Amino acid sequence: MSIVVVALLSPLRLTFDYLVPENVGWGPLAPGHRVLVPFGRSQRIGIVVECKDDSALAGSKLKTVAAALEGTPVFGPEALALARWAAGYYQHPLGDVLAHMLPTWLRKRQALPQVGAEAWTLTAAGRAALATAPSRAARQQFILNRLASGPVGAIALVGARFAWRPVLKRLLGRGLVEEVRPAAAAPPRAAAVALNESQRAAVATINASLPGYRALVLQGVTGSGKTEVYLEAIAEELAAGRQALVLVPEIALTEQLVGRFRARFGALVGLLHSALSERERVLTWSACASGSIRILVGTRSAVWATLPALGLIVVDEEHDPSYKQQDGFRYSARDIALVRAQAGGIPVILGSATPALETLANVERGKYHRIVMAYRARAAALPVIQLLDVRGLDLHCGLSSALVDAMRAHLERGEQVMLFLNRRGYSPLLICRGCGEPQRCDRCDAYLVYHKADDSVHCHHCDRQWSRTRRARCCAAADIALIGLGTERIEEAVAELFPQARLCRIDRDTARRKDALRDMLARINEREVDVIIGTQMLAKGLDFAAVTLVGVVDTDSRLFSLDFRAEERLAQLLIQVAGRAGRAAAPGRVLVQTHQPHHPVLRQIIDQGYDVYAARALGERRAAGLPPYSAMAVIRADAAAPATALAYLAAARAHLLAHAEGELDLSYPLPALMERRGGRYRALMVVRAAQRLEIGRLFAAQVVALETLARRARVRWAIDVDPQDTL
Ligand code: ADP
Ligand code: ZN
Repeated sequence: MSIVVVALLSPLRLTFDYLVPENVGWGPLAPGHRVLVPFGRSQRIGIVVECKDDSALAGSKLKTVAAALEGTPVFGPEALALARWAAGYYQHPLGDVLAHMLPTWLRKRQALPQVGAEAWTLTAAGRAALATAPSRAARQQFILNRLASGPVGAIALVGARFAWRPVLKRLLGRGLVEEVRPAAAAPPRAAAVALNESQRAAVATINASLPGYRALVLQGVTGSGKTEVYLEAIAEELAAGRQALVLVPEIALTEQLVGRFRARFGALVGLLHSALSERERVLTWSACASGSIRILVGTRSAVWATLPALGLIVVDEEHDPSYKQQDGFRYSARDIALVRAQAGGIPVILGSATPALETLANVERGKYHRIVMAYRARAAALPVIQLLDVRGLDLHCGLSSALVDAMRAHLERGEQVMLFLNRRGYSPLLICRGCGEPQRCDRCDAYLVYHKADDSVHCHHCDRQWSRTRRARCCAAADIALIGLGTERIEEAVAELFPQARLCRIDRDTARRKDALRDMLARINEREVDVIIGTQMLAKGLDFAAVTLVGVVDTDSRLFSLDFRAEERLAQLLIQVAGRAGRAAAPGRVLVQTHQPHHPVLRQIIDQGYDVYAARALGERRAAGLPPYSAMAVIRADAAAPATALAYLAAARAHLLAHAEGELDLSYPLPALMERRGGRYRALMVVRAAQRLEIGRLFAAQVVALETLARRARVRWAIDVDPQDTL
């Protein structure tokens, strides 16, 4: 009898040996198979990670695999190798890494649903109906529109964000749509735009590196037409029969990109992000695995998708911090994409107008190849960024008269205006007018934010809410002063100043409803909106042709953050926000309100541009021995009582110092900047070394000891390799 090693889909660091029974129902077990195994008193799902002939455990003690859950492994050898690499690099339990790589559906005891090979197309009656004025329901219209460009398979309707099958059935019943044989569902190919010279050069460089691993940094200014370059490079891959993976940092952007990709490649394009239903995600996953999706566009977790013929990976807006998962399995999707490309011997394109400093350091070291696109594709010039000194000025709800005048001028010309403020809600501080106490969260070291939309106060850190009246319990006074500005308040002010203007506010609150974001983006593109007000969701790569004025209401708080990456973030954010202006023919203008008009970082970004800023910032990082010129990890811990996490980290520090070899810099344990969050007290300790290898070796040897210490101390703990923040 043979034996398999199984990693349970859980955060256990151990793997377990099981006997393979005579008959698992599906022929022999291989690495990558999903199996059901007895564990304790219950059965658990695990992944076979190895097959072998004997076990260190005596035969009689071994339990037997209960069943295989499907006939073919859900992971191939490359995926298992990637999982092993990630588990080692991030010091995360292999079983939990594997769980992250699977859609939620397959983490449970459920069979892999079959994607129908079915496809549909419009009948003559359907085309006629589409041509006449639509008076039908929006959902029917949605499906007819999707089918307008040619036959479409089930997978192209995933992401419809409503139960599309009954609607489709109605359309079939009315003879507007008919089923076609899958072979007929060839992709429609919308004409490609004629590329300009720098785009052609970029595509040539990318194609020249095919096949084979190469990391290409596509540094194109905002609006330089990077997306067209991706499309062209991907067309090449498709022609060669391969698949492509396109990662984007934000769901809003997947909507926009998928639109552009489907216009060109039709039903071959799949979409994966966290707002899809579990069933939609597993269907997309299996269509990727079977090859019927040839281009997958998705957010962070799409980096794990099974794509057997993968030929190219694109990481769009590669500098974006949301590629790093900030809890549980703390991986960087950008870095996983690089490792995946290297293992698969394929190119990876890192696209950004503002590449991360790490990425630029790798260009400097000759590890990545940089392609520059210095001009906008459609507009004559990049927008002019101007600082507005608001010191001593009377602001109307945070808006200076210079900004208001500029808004009026652009609106009168019929152009769109975008206002950016990275704080949602109405006002971020509530102060009791009786005793002067600010209102705080019960469970976090944080002030509460007033939200006018539901007349309640929210904690933005633990997401709890209270009615406004219930919170005023500091003293008898009933009066509360609302201090500071959030997007809701700006929206209110703009509505008063420009009663004729049509407004749209984009932040986490308004984007919460299932298809709200797509509706808002559509309204902006249809020019049904005059002023767009939003948070950093707006800063990421969106392409609105009619926006000519961007106003940055407030960035000053970012100038004083303690994190060593804060300045880099500010530089990227400013340039990205500014990049939303003047993308088409009309020139763009950007006004940044500040109380710090002479701040050296602001001045440098505006006067000299990102490259000069980046060169200086890299020089400083090198002098200070900070990443990317050193390796860093953070050990985080939290506990129910105040001193527990700190005590654990002190013990962990002593343990690590006793066992470390080589030069290792271990900070003293510190409380987190927001020590109490969601009722837990948090602390952290920074580990630094000249080489990644040294940190990796230390943790690999000590992780079990640290875990044992943590269990004894009753703390939750985590290792965060390449942390995105150290606060
Ligand atoms: P980026 O991603 O670099 O910010 P996009 O790819 O969104 O830029 O392109 C900006 C705008 O320019 C888009 O509206 C796009 O359709 C248009 N565009 C890109 N390349 C061309 C081209 N060669 N000819 C005409 N328009 C182009
Ligand atoms: Zn809270």
